Amino acid sequence: MDSAEYERKTAARFASFDQDGNGYIDREDFSAAAAAILAEFDITARCDKGQALYSGAEAFWQGMAGIADVDGDQRVSRDEFVTGAVKRLRDNPERFAEIARPFLHAAIEIAALSDGQGGGVTLRAATRLLRVLGADPEVAERVATALDTDGDGIITESETLSAFAMYYTVDGPDPQ
Ligand code: CA
Ligand code: CA
Repeated sequence: MDSAEYERKTAARFASFDQDGNGYIDREDFSAAAAAILAEFDITARCDKGQALYSGAEAFWQGMAGIADVDGDQRVSRDEFVTGAVKRLRDNPERFAEIARPFLHAAIEIAALSDGQGGGVTLRAATRLLRVLGADPEVAERVATALDTDGDGIITESETLSAFAMYYTVDGPDPQ
């Protein structure tokens, strides 16, 4: 990947974390993402899965801040994101999986509920989830489709986690 493409992808990922578009990633962006997922899949915040999603969002934010909020002002600037988060997450994808897992696990359970599938998420639900989290429609579809290797329209939780890790760490497919 050349540096122009890398920068373009990084800017797109920053924008998808910065849900409210104020130029910083902070705690509110993570709770906004949780709220958007609940709204998309018509789940109340008060149920167990809703609560799990919100606490996962908080843990994801804490993990992100721990990695990238270098000046400790409780928000991740674009510079902090580029020099801190993206590089470290690329160098250490397991670390990403660790900080994102509780949130993504809850999100995946909610998405799986929507289509009534045990043991996996439908391609359609995974695509909706990626879209709610800020992926372009085409990117969301490509990332999800790439994981459904046997073409049955169902992807497992671990595959869905991989899709998000790929997406967030900038290595995922991304159309021009
Ligand atoms: Ca923001
Ligand atoms: Ca900061």
